[in-house]
Amino acid sequence: MKIDRPSWFGSSLDPAVAIAKEPLEGREFKPAVGTPETAKRQVTYPPNFGKETFEKAIDELRKILGAENVQINDQLRQLLNVPSPPLDRPLSPPDPPSLSTDHPALSHDAYNVLDADYFVPSAIALPGSTEEVQAIVRWANKWIFPLWPISIGRNLGYGGAAPRVPGSLVINLGARMNKVLNIDEKAANCLLEPGVTYIELYEELKRRGLGEKLWVDVPDLGGGSVMGNALDRGVGYTPYGDHWSQHCGMEVVLPNGELVELGMGSMPGAKTAQCFQYGYGPFLDGMFSQSNLGIVTKMGFFLMPNPGGIKPFMISFMHKEDLGPAVDTLQPLMASRLLGNIPSLRLGLWDAATYGSKDEYWPENAGRVVPEDVELRILKEKGLGYWVFYGALYGPDEVTDPQWEIVKSKFKHIKDVKFSLREDVSAESYLHDRANVFAGVPTFRELAWHAWIPNSGELFFAPISGVNGADAVAQVKLCREITSKWGFDYLGTFYVAVREAHHIVTLLFDRSKPEQRVNAEKCIRELIDTHAKLGYGEYRSHIATADQIMATYGANNHAFRRLNEQIKDCLDPNGIMAPGRTGIWPRAYRGKGWEIDGVAPLKQVKPEAGKL
Ligand code: ADP
Repeated sequence: MKIDRPSWFGSSLDPAVAIAKEPLEGREFKPAVGTPETAKRQVTYPPNFGKETFEKAIDELRKILGAENVQINDQLRQLLNVPSPPLDRPLSPPDPPSLSTDHPALSHDAYNVLDADYFVPSAIALPGSTEEVQAIVRWANKWIFPLWPISIGRNLGYGGAAPRVPGSLVINLGARMNKVLNIDEKAANCLLEPGVTYIELYEELKRRGLGEKLWVDVPDLGGGSVMGNALDRGVGYTPYGDHWSQHCGMEVVLPNGELVELGMGSMPGAKTAQCFQYGYGPFLDGMFSQSNLGIVTKMGFFLMPNPGGIKPFMISFMHKEDLGPAVDTLQPLMASRLLGNIPSLRLGLWDAATYGSKDEYWPENAGRVVPEDVELRILKEKGLGYWVFYGALYGPDEVTDPQWEIVKSKFKHIKDVKFSLREDVSAESYLHDRANVFAGVPTFRELAWHAWIPNSGELFFAPISGVNGADAVAQVKLCREITSKWGFDYLGTFYVAVREAHHIVTLLFDRSKPEQRVNAEKCIRELIDTHAKLGYGEYRSHIATADQIMATYGANNHAFRRLNEQIKDCLDPNGIMAPGRTGIWPRAYRGKGWEIDGVAPLKQVKPEAGKL
């Protein structure tokens, strides 16, 4: 079988040419764009710390890591009115990776939904080795100092790099621990440190001459870390799109500073650590995903062998009511694995947002929600369906040509449906970007919809839906009602797997307008509650909504949360490791007002004088 990359691979359409030059500024502590570097702000101390104890503790940390590897979060940060970054249109590839996610703030959540100064660290540590991570953990136990590990900290829409407990020490693992430790060509796997980004792994494969042979599954944006995304259970779009399920082997620093290897790696000299996920005995890897039980310092991943060809395609469903039939038609194609990747079914208006801003399409909008007549006009202008489906078939043409005919035949009963391959669409079509992503090429086109409104911040609502029309229609109806009520456009996509779809709804709010930020919070809280009542839960959340979401997983008098609390108290008796992550609090914090489970003025959720 002939193994080759898609025909556009390495051509001028390959955005990695531009991406390779990206400075990766997220590695350094940077104030928000436009901030005067010299302006100072008051440090937020962790609970139970005053200036004196904080400075003593930090002095000791400086001795452990070197003064240059401990940064104090004392710079004034201009959080609001951050100008939207320039976006030159048309956005033809290669996309300029010039938007604000190039500068993810490590000092705060750049898209804050609570008061800007709440989720902030007191300091940021930059360890250079696993031993230094262990030393930080031992130091934290001595001082009872809360930690918040990040790999790159671009988790935008879910809290970015910001810690859940104000005054925590953010451990910026990606700054100095960012090596590709191993790539096994034959076994198609790799071993990574926390800071390795998708772009870097992709570039490293090319550098080693393996770019043709092994593909990386990339998410929508290539600048985040492979490890951070997998630990937060993010998705990509090739058949390896469920990132957590494609990991194999982990090295973890436990809350007491001890180091543990999971899977086959727990055998000294193991030869198959990145080949077999389970090892022997209880499979404990899950305890370290979306959790606060350890700091992952190494992680193995499967790489996708080049399938010998790819046929990316777009199906446009022209009518609003096509959603149910489209999803129902999709279900057997997903379940049988005829469609083997993670395709997406996206609202046409959101697609339109990757081509132009709301002001450009509808200059008289005055901040209003796009009404249906305007929505239909925009879709017509851009030649987009009401729902747009992006998928890919993998394998040589001899395999994918007949598969494509089957796919078309399955959907053709839907009125006015349109089928397109890359050669059928214009150069500006979003299909080209999706095609790159489906072939494991990192891109930045997704950033374009940030310019939909000025000054945009994003907040993601991410419920799981079944792959059935009734679920999809019910969720979209509810989401649209609630987002409109709070003044936001419904912008949703279904990322479809075998038996479920991640329904990602983006609330875009104007950061320069505090009332929009408040409404975004009210909106997401209503979305969480109303979906829970219908039996739909979220797969991932912003740190501000974690407590509320954990409360919705409340069967048997919250037995799941209580089990997690028992494990937490046992492994982390001092409660130093990411307290509050996914709504799991250590004993010292529980029931003292740290939980945020409704829209509350912040003073009510800030425990008295930062005490435990
Ligand atoms: P990205 O690389 O996409 O920017 P982050 O570094 O922000 O992702 O990681 C997302 C979340 O996952 C973090 O907020 C943190 O809670 C958790 N996390 C990331 N890396 C690690 C790690 N190495 N060990 C433990 N938890 C981690």
